[in-house]
Amino acid sequence: VGFLVEPMQKLTHMSTQFQEGITGFQRFMDIMNLQPDIRNSNRAEKLTDVSGRIEFRNVTFRYENHLSPVLRDVTLRVEPGQFVALVGPSGAGKTTLCSLIPRFYDVTEGQVLVDGLDVRQADLSSLRSKIGIVQQDVYLFAGTVIDNIRYGKPGAGEEEIIEAAKRANAHDFIMGLAEGYHTEIGQRGVMLSGGQRQRLSIARVFLKDPPILILDEATSALDNESESIVKDSLDLLSKGRTTIVIAHRLSTIRGADRILVLSNEGIAEEGTHEELMERGSVYAQLYSK
Ligand code: ADP
Ligand code: MG
Repeated sequence: VGFLVEPMQKLTHMSTQFQEGITGFQRFMDIMNLQPDIRNSNRAEKLTDVSGRIEFRNVTFRYENHLSPVLRDVTLRVEPGQFVALVGPSGAGKTTLCSLIPRFYDVTEGQVLVDGLDVRQADLSSLRSKIGIVQQDVYLFAGTVIDNIRYGKPGAGEEEIIEAAKRANAHDFIMGLAEGYHTEIGQRGVMLSGGQRQRLSIARVFLKDPPILILDEATSALDNESESIVKDSLDLLSKGRTTIVIAHRLSTIRGADRILVLSNEGIAEEGTHEELMERGSVYAQLYSK
């Protein structure tokens, strides 16, 4: 049997590399906005004053080359300024659902609307300029701290960048770096902790100042201390913005205006924490776990 083991291991190793190659490429496509079929329609409308209403109308979504849909017949509505928690088991499609709002993918059926406009009819860059995203993985590039924050609003001046960093609880640690805002980070520069990286990504969103905010497990990879610092700046960030938060932390979920429970059957339940606990179904079960 021994003579078979090594080739099998090689094969397994290769297929792992291959899969990583695909996800890596997918991520690159997402970052570079290169999804080939996502383009402005001929009559694309620029979104200007967005109040931040989000609607899903009977949305079904299937990833290309996948047989079964990740989202089935999802209908939801988030009012301007509302703070909504999206909960559900891992793999339920929470991240996928949120990725349809900035139109990283197009729906298979149904409609996603921002302020009443189907996102497929919206000018892409104006749409994405209205949405801030904070995720678990922070994308930083090799360069200075200030350039990394400026990525949130190209052309922003130093003063507004520092103001954004202060609101993100990042100013003090940045001032503690050897060259302050002009310190190089990334492969050849200083290494930042997870919490510091996260605060830079929050500073970017403060700078961008979008009416819509998506927080996708933004604090789940952090230790307790940096989690509470990051949580404070996220609370400040979400003020006055329509916010969809995907979180595992109960205090975040409980504090939401509304909770949406996503399952394989679409939105299984919605309501406030108290309402859902009283009804005693999926959410109550998740909660007791
Ligand atoms: P959640 O955020 O609720 O954990 P996801 O939206 O990440 O769920 O994933 C939902 C399902 O879609 C999972 O089965 C996942 O494997 C699949 N999936 C996620 N991203 C992709 C992708 N880019 N291509 C194909 N399938 C994907
Ligand atoms: Mg997810």
